[in-house]
Amino acid sequence: MEILTSINPATDETVETFAVHTPADVQRLIDGARRSFAHWKSLPLMRRTDLLRSAAKTLRDGKQKYARIMTIEMGKPITEALAEVDKCALLCDYYAENAERFLQTEIRPSAPFRHSSVRFDPLGIVLAVMPWNFPFWQVFRAAVPALAAGNVMLLKHSSNVSRCALEIEEIFRMAGFPDGVFGTLLLPASRLESVMPEVQAVTLTGSEAAGRSLAALAGRFLKPAVLELGGSDPYIVLADADVRVAAENAVRARCVNSGQSCIAAKRFIVHEKIYDSFLDLFRAGMQALKIGDPLRSETEIGPLARKDLREELHGLVEDAGANGARIVLGGGPLFEKGAYYAPTIIDALQPAMQLYHEEAFGPVAAVLPFSEDEEAVRLANDSRFGLGASIWAGDTERAMAMAPFIEAGSVFINATVRSDPALPFGGIKDSGYGRELSLEGIRSFVNVKTVRLL
Ligand code: NDP
Repeated sequence: MEILTSINPATDETVETFAVHTPADVQRLIDGARRSFAHWKSLPLMRRTDLLRSAAKTLRDGKQKYARIMTIEMGKPITEALAEVDKCALLCDYYAENAERFLQTEIRPSAPFRHSSVRFDPLGIVLAVMPWNFPFWQVFRAAVPALAAGNVMLLKHSSNVSRCALEIEEIFRMAGFPDGVFGTLLLPASRLESVMPEVQAVTLTGSEAAGRSLAALAGRFLKPAVLELGGSDPYIVLADADVRVAAENAVRARCVNSGQSCIAAKRFIVHEKIYDSFLDLFRAGMQALKIGDPLRSETEIGPLARKDLREELHGLVEDAGANGARIVLGGGPLFEKGAYYAPTIIDALQPAMQLYHEEAFGPVAAVLPFSEDEEAVRLANDSRFGLGASIWAGDTERAMAMAPFIEAGSVFINATVRSDPALPFGGIKDSGYGRELSLEGIRSFVNVKTVRLL
């Protein structure tokens, strides 16, 4: 029997194993989703948004339990897991509040027709292929707008967080969603090919490699797709920035979720005039982080989610060292047990290093200097990724003037990049395509239908 295994990355202990769904199980789930869609799409929107409010309540009531499940399965510090549950609940509230406005039929008068309008009808089954790093948030971010619009969803979660997947399914059930509106497929990625023809759309958050592979499959079956892939976000510190504030925020921006976030700042592009003071403050901040048991509330950095991911990360650090980088802090695995990695700073990042081009998914920061604003923009854009970017400046007008030239899906000034239900989220270049959240997110999985009456 094929199984999926969840291993606690803080202790290396197996937490649970799960039998992979058989082809018959998968067909049953697909049939259930299809049947459910016929009913779900015909419900008044208010009924669906009431259920979203109920999901928010279920999340809040079970917050401690859900946070603990996340932390045990993938190692995130418990305080961050608790905040993640809150954010999922907020998202449910946001779409409960705004879905009607976003889905309202638009009247667009156009002679000689007596009536011309645009409707936003649901598509059917949306397949969500999701990652382990924000094992609740990424799923809710995909599910809530899609379900609000009248679609149903089948989730294929990362193979290392099956308990999170099943718990999310249970949350929707407890909140009162009809059977089949949200289902979980316990499958390895290699089994998705058989599912693709049965769904109407697909959304994936994960690595570039997974995105390319799923997009090719979606292309073969002509399914629309939203892809939210990796990032190597620049964090530009201009000469007139408050260095202390920029350095303090840099620590948080790099180390959120123990460094495993697509929108974590990864390349720190710092003006040469303040480079040394920034580096000193940044190093002090990174060094002071409390590393340890992710279930303890004071822990700021837990283990990485898996040991193979730690090896990949360490490979990038070793390659940078071999190619002339100065390792200012950290530089290797920590502790005998668990997938811990030391907060690491690499000085003088160069194109000859893999780290210059790849996404570092862990607490590894690369710093490099610049002298002119144009050079900062050039360095920021010298990446195949284009997810987020942040600029730190005293003269905020100057920073605002740089924003149009940054190749990224979002630019934050004097703030770290983060997602917000009210604003679109997504990337360009190899960070993927399509948008989640806000109006754009709910419109990603609808049939924009023109209706005219002569
Ligand atoms: P993956 O991208 O492999 O996993 C994310 C999801 O995609 C999982 O559900 C996975 O399933 C699925 N998947 C993997 N390969 C395919 C495929 N060929 N076709 C369809 N679905 C697929 O991430 P990893 O866990 O391996 O992490 C590797 C790297 O990916 C990280 O180091 C990081 O750079 C990046 N990443 C980026 C994330 C982001 O938020 N943008 C999130 C997670 C990782 P399964 O688990 O069964 O393989």
